[in-house]
Order: sequence, then structure tokens, then C-alpha cells
Amino acid sequence: MSEEKSLNFLEEIIEKDLAEGKYKYIHTRFPPEPNGYLHIGHASSIHLNFGLAKKYKGKCNLRFDDTNPTTEETEYVESIKNDIKWLGFEWDGEYYASDYFEQLYGFAVKLINKGLAYVDDSTAEEIAALKGNIGVPGTNSPYRERTVEENLRLFQEMREGKYKDSEKVLRAKIDMAHPNLLLRDPILYRIKHEHHHRTGDKWCIYPMYDFAHGQSDSIENITHSICTLEFIHHRPLYDWCIQQLEIFPSHQYEFARRNLSYTVMSKRKLLQLVNEKHVDGWNDPRMPTVSGMRRRGYTAAALRNFCDTIGIAKRENVVDLSLLEFCVREDLNKLATRSMAVLDPVKLVITNYPEGQTENLEIENNPEDENSGKRTVPFSNEVWIEREDFMENPPKKFFRLGMGLMVRLKGAYIVQCNDFKKDENGNITEIHCTYIRESRSGNDTSGIHVKGTIHWVSVAHAKTAEVRLYDRLFRVEDPSSEDGDFKDYINPDSLQVLPQVFIEPSLAAAKPGEHFQFLRKGYFCVDTDSSAEKLIFNRTVTLKDSWAKEQKK
Ligand code: ATP
Ligand code: MG
Repeated sequence: MSEEKSLNFLEEIIEKDLAEGKYKYIHTRFPPEPNGYLHIGHASSIHLNFGLAKKYKGKCNLRFDDTNPTTEETEYVESIKNDIKWLGFEWDGEYYASDYFEQLYGFAVKLINKGLAYVDDSTAEEIAALKGNIGVPGTNSPYRERTVEENLRLFQEMREGKYKDSEKVLRAKIDMAHPNLLLRDPILYRIKHEHHHRTGDKWCIYPMYDFAHGQSDSIENITHSICTLEFIHHRPLYDWCIQQLEIFPSHQYEFARRNLSYTVMSKRKLLQLVNEKHVDGWNDPRMPTVSGMRRRGYTAAALRNFCDTIGIAKRENVVDLSLLEFCVREDLNKLATRSMAVLDPVKLVITNYPEGQTENLEIENNPEDENSGKRTVPFSNEVWIEREDFMENPPKKFFRLGMGLMVRLKGAYIVQCNDFKKDENGNITEIHCTYIRESRSGNDTSGIHVKGTIHWVSVAHAKTAEVRLYDRLFRVEDPSSEDGDFKDYINPDSLQVLPQVFIEPSLAAAKPGEHFQFLRKGYFCVDTDSSAEKLIFNRTVTLKDSWAKEQKK
């Protein structure tokens, strides 16, 4: 975008910090928990964190926030790295919160030694019962006054595996009457005898998010730790830990989570869709995941442009899916090779064109890109056209085919319809036309002007492919805010498979990941399951631009 954009609130903070000499350079991080695949909301956070580092010539780390052994897996780590690279970003350091377990343990010991943490034998229910409520102070735990020595010994024993899950926890000793409930002696460590995807069985105590995140930021000298708004109430605890531990003062800033219409974004919900087979895996082209969007044919440039356009906000809202589609069309228009495919075919016979003759027409690959060249498209006396391009009783402004009507076959000739055949059910089986010999595209001396141009594929030369058409995954704009289970709102027609579509022969060599515009039908991308024997195309997006229309209203 060319116009000068005003600074967002984070850029304002950073520019002030740099101007005041608070930091020599900024250091951000993207901290995914490896418990699922990245989605478009993460892409927005990636774009923000990596983008700020780039803009201000700072650094951005990739840190896996892997402190919960129950849900984390190496498969997710690999997919996350792959998606970030594909989005076009490079991290400065690759870190894992689990690499800091020893250091974090040391931090906890330091708090115990300062009299600021204690081991509590209360059950989760007891702890909750003593917590109080908003406006109602909590009550001190009976274990709160344990001596430093006893706490050190018990914490050590927790680490050594002497206790069962949930038998003990380590808590910060702050203030059970604090107005912010998160500061009423928050839990710092819990016992979990579980295998961790990186540390194996070395640990059976794991730090809580609040005792891992800020400290990890601090260890990495992160200057601006950007997270989503739900952590705003955690910020005082973030600051408290850093102050008490006297470590590098990272600061937390919050921005609003990005949501997209007609989908869900929480990894927990996406995992349900995968596990219950509502979709074909995390990278199903209907998923709002980065890998799903890639498989569908969305480009990294389109996603970056989308993130750039929506920017950041301090208040949550739902971004319209059609804005994302607009960005995808804009990019694909520049790079997708044009070609012809007939999705719902009916045969058109040119009665005055010699049978058995083939003409090799040269048709532009992409009128938007003068370097894209031309491709050869064979033409003969029988071609497939779309069923919807013919009407037995066409209305007045139908600029396609019907008895007596004329249309141009893209890149070829003008044809006029003068007969058609039907089967016993009334379905059109064949359309008969004559062609105007002098009307060949590029050398048209016929003097005839027609309003409509339709796409076609020569019957004798056609190849076949499977085409998958996608619609929104949910029937309602915001399935998470509806009554009942969000899965009740799944769109049952979100996938339509056309097993045998006729495509022009140049498409036979198409490789997975390649982008095409099928004339008048949309942008398509070769699916990852596609092979030379069985070509599969995903419709990335239709050509219609409903978002731009919305804007003009
Ligand atoms: P989810 O709710 O989807 O499970 P999460 O917050 O648990 O997401 P993390 O792996 O912890 O997922 O997220 C990594 C980073 O991405 C965090 O900094 C988080 O704030 C950010 N992030 C997650 N979802 C969104 C979103 N919808 N919009 C913007 N940023 C997001
Ligand atoms: Mg999270």
C-alpha cells in the first residue's frame, strides 16, 4: 500500500522507547504453544512480531511455549516452523521454554529463599474455596507460614518425584486480599508425572504459564512481549515475578485477538473438527489454519497483505472473510496462469467445421503479466461448454447461447446456435452451431460484434480432473457465540466434489501447489494429493468480489 500509514499504538510505544534510549534495539518473540497447527490469528501475531522487529531493525525469536506436557507434540513444532517460513519470516533464535526448566526451578528457589513462595498441600478445591471473590478477600492457606527450610526441602522433594500429581503445589506469597484475583498467591508449579515431548521423563513438576512466560521473555532479553488481550490481568503478576527475581525487565503489551467470520479459531475447537473428522485433517482446505489455506491455494503474500490491512486493534472484533478473499484474488490475479476447464459439460458441435481437423490456437497465459507468454490450446469441431451457457428459452439479455444467438469461444471463433438435442428427460445433450470462419481471435475480419465470450475445451483433446469446490465451513458468522455446540452450525455443503471435469491439455502437467485461473470459474490450485494419473484441483476462491461491492455501498 502506497499511502503513508499512521503508527499503531505499539509502534508509538516502540518509537518512544527507542527515542528515549530505553533500548538500543527492540527484541520481540512469537511464542506458540505446540498443541496445534497455526491459524490465521497466529499469522496476524507473527506478522506483527516479526514485522515490528524488521521495521525497527531489531530481532524476533521463535519460542515454543511448551510447559504443558499433556497437549504438546513434536509434529506441531515442525508444522509451526514450516508455516512461519512459508509465511516469509525468519526467526533470530529458536528457543523452547522447556530449555529453561532448570533456570526456572532456580528462580522458584530464589523466591522461596526470599520468603515469597511456599509449598501448599491443599487440594485444588480447597485452594479455590479460600480464594475469595471479586470484592471478597481470600483466606490464607494453613500452609502459608512454612519456613524457608521446609519449603526448600518440600519443593526439592516435589522435583524428585516423592509426591503424586496434585498432592502439592508451589505458590507465590503475595496477598490473599489483592483486588486482582490472579495475585492471590498464584500457583507457580504443579506436579505432573507426564512425559514431555522434549525433556522426556526428566521433570515431574512443571511451571505454570505465569511463571514461565515472563521469565522466558526475560532470559531472552525480550523488550516488547506482545500478547492477546486475555492476558491483560496477568500483567501485574508478570511484572511482580520479574521485579522480585531482579531479572531483565521485559514488558508485556496486549492487542486484540483476531477472529474471522464463518469459522472458529481456538485450537481446542479446531482439534475437535479434526478428531471428529468433520474435516480432512488440520490442513483441510476449509480450515482457517495456515496449512489449510496454503493447500487451498491462498498465497503467503495474500495472507501478509491481509494482516497488514486489518492491522492491530485494542478491541476484539470479527474480520469479514470476504476481506481475506479480496486479498487472495488480488494476488492471484497477478500470478495465476489462465486456462479453461468445463465443470458441468455439455457438447457443442460445430457443423461446418471439418471433422478430424485440429487448430492449435495461441492464447495468452495472463493478460495481467506481459512476460507470461502464451500457451497452445487445440481446437476442433466438438467442444465441451458449460451447461449453464446455453438456454432453451433465454431471457432478453442472455449474452450466451440459445437458438439463433451468437457467442465467442474464447481465443477461437464466433459461433451461432441453430439446433440442439434433448434426451427423454428433457436434458440438453448436444448443441449445434456454425462458426464464422473470418472471426478467429487476433485476426477477426468478420465485422461481427458479440457481447459474450465463453470458455470451452476440445472434446478430442480434453483431459480430466477432479475438482473440489469449497464453501464456508460454518453457516453462521460467529459459530462460537451461538447457542449450543459450535459444531451444530457446520455447513453440510462446505465441500462439493466434481469427479470428472474436462480440462484443457496444458493443465495435464500441473504440479501440486500451482495456481490457475479457470476462466469465469475462479482461482484453482493443484491439491497436494494430486498426481499425474489423477489430477485434483481445489477451488481457492471464486472470481466474484463481494467485499469490494460491500465497500462501495
Ligand atoms: P488458541 O486460543 O487458538 O488455542 P493460543 O493463544 O492458545 O490460541 P498460542 O500458541 O498460545 O495459542 O499463541 C501464540 C501467540 O499467538 C500468542 O502470542 C497469542 O496471543 C497469539 N494468538 C493466538 N490466537 C490469536 C488470534 N486469534 N489473533 C491474534 N493473535 C493470536
Ligand atoms: Mg496460549
